[in-house]
Amino acid sequence: MKRRDAEYVGLLGGALIVALVASWTALGVQIDNNAYDWFFRLHEPAPWEPQSVVLAIDEASLRESGGMARLRESLAEALELVANAQPRAVAVDVVLADPGTPGADARLAAALRATPRAVLAADLLPDGSGWEEPVTLFREAAAGVGHVHAEPDPVSREILLEKANGRVRLWALALEAFRAAEGPPVVESPADLQIGGAVIPAARSAHRALRIRYRPPPDPVPQVSLSELRADPRLAARLTGKAVFLGVTAQTAARDRLQTPYTYATGRSMPGVEIHANVFETIAGRQFLLTAPAWMQLGVPVLLVALVGAIFGRMAGWPAYLLGGGVLAMAHIIPYFCFKQNFVLPVTGLVSAAWLSTAAAASYQHFVVRRRMLKAEGDRARYQQAMHFVVHEMRTPLTAIQGSSELMGRYQLPEPKRKEIAHLINSESKRLGKMIEIFLNVERLSAGQLELKREAFDSQELMDSCVARVRPLAERKEIGIVLRPAPGAMELVGDRELMEYAFYNLLTNAVKYSPPRTEVSVYFEAAAGRLRISVQDQGFGMDAKEVRQIFQKFYRTRKAEESGEAGTGIGLSIVEQIVAQHGGTIEVASSPGRGSCFTLVLPANTVLAGAS
Ligand code: ADP
Repeated sequence: MKRRDAEYVGLLGGALIVALVASWTALGVQIDNNAYDWFFRLHEPAPWEPQSVVLAIDEASLRESGGMARLRESLAEALELVANAQPRAVAVDVVLADPGTPGADARLAAALRATPRAVLAADLLPDGSGWEEPVTLFREAAAGVGHVHAEPDPVSREILLEKANGRVRLWALALEAFRAAEGPPVVESPADLQIGGAVIPAARSAHRALRIRYRPPPDPVPQVSLSELRADPRLAARLTGKAVFLGVTAQTAARDRLQTPYTYATGRSMPGVEIHANVFETIAGRQFLLTAPAWMQLGVPVLLVALVGAIFGRMAGWPAYLLGGGVLAMAHIIPYFCFKQNFVLPVTGLVSAAWLSTAAAASYQHFVVRRRMLKAEGDRARYQQAMHFVVHEMRTPLTAIQGSSELMGRYQLPEPKRKEIAHLINSESKRLGKMIEIFLNVERLSAGQLELKREAFDSQELMDSCVARVRPLAERKEIGIVLRPAPGAMELVGDRELMEYAFYNLLTNAVKYSPPRTEVSVYFEAAAGRLRISVQDQGFGMDAKEVRQIFQKFYRTRKAEESGEAGTGIGLSIVEQIVAQHGGTIEVASSPGRGSCFTLVLPANTVLAGAS
C-alpha cells in the first residue's frame, strides 16, 4: 500500500473510531433515545386487537369509595365486578405489603380467591434491600406475583422481564399475568423466554430487557374505570377474554406516572398500570422490537465508511459529493427503515460515522489532492516558462543568422564584408548548436543516457575565458571582476563545455544579483586532491531557507525577482547536475545583504606544481 493510501485509510479509520466512541457517550445514547422516540411517533405499527384492558381506579372512583384509605375495599369491589366476566387474567398493580383492617383484608382475599388467574405486585424496597411483597394472606389467594420495578430512567422504553434481589427472583407483572393466562411455566434460554408457543426475545446478557411496544395514542389500551363499572356492571363484558390490569390512575394518588416515547407528542405521562398493560400487549401481540446485534451495530458503520472512502478515493468533484450525499442520506434512513421492520439500529454510530468519514474524505480530497494538482499545474507553467526562455535565447543568434544571410542573398557585397558576415553566421550557428547541445546533454545526463566526456583541461584557463565573456555584462553595472590566479595549474577531467556552462552561470548570477559598483572575486584553492573554485559577490545574498531551495528547478528568490534580473531559475539546477556528474559538490555561503559565495569542490586530477 502506498503511503498516501495508508494515510487515507488511517484517516477514515480514525473517523470511524471517533464516531463509535461518540455513540457510546451519554450524549450519543441520549440522541439514540430521542431518535427512537421519534421513530415511534413517525411510524405507526399495523393495528392489532387489544389483548388487555386497564381497570382504572381514577379520581371519580376514589371519591365515591372514600379515597386511598379505603383502597382495599375498592380493589375487592373491582375484583368482584370482574369475576363473572371471565377475564384471561387479572393483574393487580398495587403492592399489598401491609396488613390492613381485618374486614377489608378478608374481603379482598376472598375476592382474589374468586378471581381466576389473579396476579399480585411486588416492588423493590426503596433502599434496594429486598422485596416489598404481598402479605401471605393475599399471596396464597393469588396465582402469582410479578414485579413492578421500573429502572430509574425518565422515559420507560423497556422493562426488565426478570428481576432478582437476594434469593427471590420475580418475573415482571405483565409476564407473570401472561404466564398465568397461558398455563405452562416459563422456559428460559440465553437468548429468549418461552411460554407455550410464545418466544419472547429477551436475552439473559441484556438482563432480559424487553422493549415496550406502546399502543399508539389514537388506539391506546382500552380503559374502564371502577366508577363506570359500578354505575353499569354490564360494562364488565368488555373485560371478557382480556388481561385486566387493575390499578390506581388518579393523578393525585398514583405515585408511578412515567414518560413514554409518545409523551412528547401527547404531552401525557402514563400511569404505571397502563405501562404494564402495554408490556402485556407487546408480549401477547408479539409486537417485539429487536435490538440489532453488536456485529451489525459495528458492521453497518464500517460498511458506510468503506463506501464513503471508495467514493471519494475513486471520484472527484460533484459526482463524489453527490454519491457521498447519497450515503449520508442512507445513514439517516437505514435506522428508520430498520425500525419499520421492528429492528432497532442505534442512530448515532451510523450517522456520525457517515458524517465524519464524509467530512474527512472530502477534506482529504480537497486539501491534499488539490494541493498536489496545483503543484503539478505550477510545475507545468514553470516548464512552459523555461521553454519560452530557451526559445528566446535561441532567437537572438537565429535573428542574426537570418538577417545576415538575407543581406548576403540580396546585395552584392564587397568581399571583406561578405567574409565578415559569413564568419558571423558561422559563429552564431555554432553558438546555437552549442546551446542546444548543452540543454540536450543536461537532460540526457540527468536521465542517465549520456556518458560524460572525459577530457583534461586547465581550470584556470577555462575560468579566464568565462570571465572574459561576463565582463561586458559586469561593466554595464560597473562591477569589477577580480580573478586571483590559481596557486598552480590545475587540471580537471571531464566535459569542458558543461563545466564552462557551470562556471559561466555562477559568474552571471554573481553579477546579476549584485548592486552596481561592487566587486566579484574568483579564487582557487587546492586541498587534499580537491580543487575549490569560489565565486564571491557583494550582492544582496539569501537567507538559509532560500539557500536550501535555489537548486530546485524554477526556484527564484523574491529579491531576485524584484531586481528584474532573475531568469527562469533552472540555471543552478543544471549546474548542480553538472558538478555532481563530475564527482563534485557545491557549497553556498550567503546571508542577506552581505553577499554570497558559491564554491565548486571538484576532484582535481593532477595538480601540476608548475608556477608555484
Ligand atoms: P536564474 O536564472 O533565476 O538566475 P538560477 O538557478 O541560476 O536561476 O538561480 C536561482 C535563484 O537563486 C536566482 O533566481 C536567485 O534568486 C538565487 N541566486 C543565485 N545566485 C545568487 C547570488 N549570487 N546571489 C543572490 N541570489 C542568487
